[in-house]
Amino acid sequence: MIAVEAGLYIGSVSDLKDVQMLTDAGITHILTVDSDEPALTGFHTKFVRALDDASTDLLSKLDDCVSFITEAQTQSELSAVLVHCHVGQSRSAAVVTAYLMKTQGLSLQDAYTKLQNLKPDVKMNEEFMDQLALFELMDCKVDTTNPLYKQFRLKKITEKYPELQNVPKEVFAVDPAQTQNAEAVYRCRKCRRTLFRHSSILSHCVGGGASAFSHKKTKIVTPTHEEQTQCTSYFIEPVQWMEQALLGVMDGQLLCPKCNSKLGSFNWYGEQCSCGRWVTPAFQMHKNRVDEIKYISICPLK
Ligand SMILES: [Zn+2]
Ligand SMILES: [Zn+2]
Repeated sequence: MIAVEAGLYIGSVSDLKDVQMLTDAGITHILTVDSDEPALTGFHTKFVRALDDASTDLLSKLDDCVSFITEAQTQSELSAVLVHCHVGQSRSAAVVTAYLMKTQGLSLQDAYTKLQNLKPDVKMNEEFMDQLALFELMDCKVDTTNPLYKQFRLKKITEKYPELQNVPKEVFAVDPAQTQNAEAVYRCRKCRRTLFRHSSILSHCVGGGASAFSHKKTKIVTPTHEEQTQCTSYFIEPVQWMEQALLGVMDGQLLCPKCNSKLGSFNWYGEQCSCGRWVTPAFQMHKNRVDEIKYISICPLK
């Protein structure tokens, strides 16, 4: 167990056995990020089930973890938190790094270096580094409307539900044909059926490469208009009307729910855009099959 700052420690599951050490350090709160929940009494606890592998979505739980640590520390001057995983090298390191980024305004690299200087054996897995890079990009707050976050969650779903059944309903965007909204929408060019909203477009960086965001990159480049014209499809989040076609099926065509004309295709394991970029998973609508409609508010006629 190592002190990161006043009132915050990082450690492993074996530290839990040394009750005297925990008492001496003034530990009042324990945050466990592990596959199994330890039996603990006499502490305020929080358990986050997480494996130390690429299938784990730690990102979606970071806000909660950081809040637990912050609340514990502000509860009293004497309270102290232990963040631990199994060996204290990857999962707990990711949570503590996120905490340092958010509370001290450090970049991912600075926060991680700071932690490594305090605890040289920390070694976060690559997947968590990527997730923290996205956390940084979202200003250290999970933003469920961020297109990169949406893409990340969809990717995690294909890993969590490989048979593609029982996929949580909330991954499907509300059918824009059922609701009114001021946002621009896209319609079937043939029958005018409203298909998806502008906010459902998950834009990607144009060109080759394995990942749309990576800590190895110095910054995220927004594609210029000219570059975007290289992409002949819109890659979007799945929309409710696609549900029947998508569940339990790995890939296939996307047909208009009204006139059945072919609009595009999907593949839960990814497809390549015309610009060369792989998008995983991919739900693509050919730009020449849909029309963008910008709403103009008009007073109703009497
Ligand atoms: Zn593209
Ligand atoms: Zn149609």
